Amino acid sequence: MVFATANRHKLEEVQAMLPDNLQIRSLSDIGFTGEIPETGATLEDNALQKARFIHERYGAPCFADDTGLETEALDGAPGVHSARYAGAEGSQEERDKANMARLLHELAGKSGRNARFRTVIAYIDADNREHLFEGTVNGSIIEDAAGSKGFGYDPVFMPDGYGITYAQMALCEKNLISHRAKAFQKFAEAIREANCLMSRVEL
Ligand code: IMP
Repeated sequence: MVFATANRHKLEEVQAMLPDNLQIRSLSDIGFTGEIPETGATLEDNALQKARFIHERYGAPCFADDTGLETEALDGAPGVHSARYAGAEGSQEERDKANMARLLHELAGKSGRNARFRTVIAYIDADNREHLFEGTVNGSIIEDAAGSKGFGYDPVFMPDGYGITYAQMALCEKNLISHRAKAFQKFAEAIREANCLMSRVEL
């Protein structure tokens, strides 16, 4: 099964969440080095677009994920534009900083700082059927960034019930409760179920 991501860190994180007998192949494993278009209007569109792009070219079962931070006061922004919200160039860290600065600027003076992280996984199986899985974590955007772990908007996102930001959590704690973990748990569950039914058919 191919994971349509160029991010090796994500690949390792996701491999650890999936059943041991499921070998994930990266884009470089299958010899793909180009850019996958990501022009959808929603997280669902983007995840499907990425999975279909690779599936059409390689024919193998394939999955892709897309994540966005959705804030209530900004009608769901930055959402699908989370990665490039500030339009900044430079290193990942510089872009993350600029994105957070824009978010705090846009929210300044607005009431209601509720937000949620949402991950969508699109999976195309061996019978060319498409499946979507979603993981969400509700929380709020704090006024001043806190914490130095993680990446992206972690320093300004406080999940409900925790009193600390994602960036103040140990990485293993974030990975237990995160939006991405929830989506991949659902995906892993579906794969286990399909494998189990398949082995019954083969008996
Ligand atoms: P992607 O779809 O996983 O590449 O995520 C898109 C963008 O959402 C990233 O560039 C980050 O800005 C943001 N993002 C995704 N996941 C997280 C997270 O776990 N913490 C903070 N920001 C995230």
